Amino acid sequence: MLIAYENVGKTFETLEGDLTAVRDVNLAVRRGEFVTLVGPSGCGKSTLLNMAAGLFAPTVGTVRYDGEEVAPYNQRVGYMTQNDHLLPWRDARDNVLVPLEIRGMGRGEAQDRVDELLEQLGLKGFERAYPSQLSGGMKKRTALARLLAYDPEALLMDEPFGALDAQLRLKMQIEILRLARTLRKTVVFVTHDLDEAVSLADRTAVFSARPGTIIRVVDVPLGEERDLLTLRRDSAYRDLTAELWDHLSPTVDHAEG
Ligand code: ADP
Ligand code: MG
Repeated sequence: MLIAYENVGKTFETLEGDLTAVRDVNLAVRRGEFVTLVGPSGCGKSTLLNMAAGLFAPTVGTVRYDGEEVAPYNQRVGYMTQNDHLLPWRDARDNVLVPLEIRGMGRGEAQDRVDELLEQLGLKGFERAYPSQLSGGMKKRTALARLLAYDPEALLMDEPFGALDAQLRLKMQIEILRLARTLRKTVVFVTHDLDEAVSLADRTAVFSARPGTIIRVVDVPLGEERDLLTLRRDSAYRDLTAELWDHLSPTVDHAEG
């Protein structure tokens, strides 16, 4: 197991009193697995990723990474959120360079690594473009390149494509699946979109409304070579999304917002 949640609960102290975001979460993510977490807004999905990243500890239970309790700032994971946070004063190449600079990688080696990544993500020719000159898709690709820069074992992705239009989103989904497979990454991918949850996953965990807990974990046996462009016509895919929707729909009334 690479990432394991064991009886995890998290309660925040707020001005209005204690707020339990998640409770009794048990989930073990195998090395190389692509697991999606899907559930209504406010059910604690981001909270769970934050704990795997070591941003804060659970109130009860244990979050483990490679067998050890997660310590503050888990350096072995890469974290990506909906907001790319590209630095506007740096071009694409220098944005991807940031995590390597932080790690103190030598300039030459770092530049080579960045160029390789930009090529891998189809950004060749745009190295010197600033974020304001890049399309939405290219910004996402730049953020993905930066995420992969120091070659983290595991990727924690929090609704990374949430703000994109449908077509671009599909493109980025194809891209992340390709990267996860070829680079053999372990991925925990949070989404509130059931289609996205199923189309990317080896397994998907469905959460209840807050306090969030796992209602169901479903295997998604659609294969490694699934074609996201035609998946929606696949009957196995349709059965799975229908089944998941049956689990998710009772939570709709209790979602925040
Ligand atoms: P999701 O990502 O599923 O939408 P979150 O994990 O962001 O849910 O939040 C779950 C609940 O915990 C929400 O009600 C949110 O307001 C609350 N919450 C999250 N982080 C904090 C915090 N640092 N302090 C207080 N409450 C928080
Ligand atoms: Mg969230």
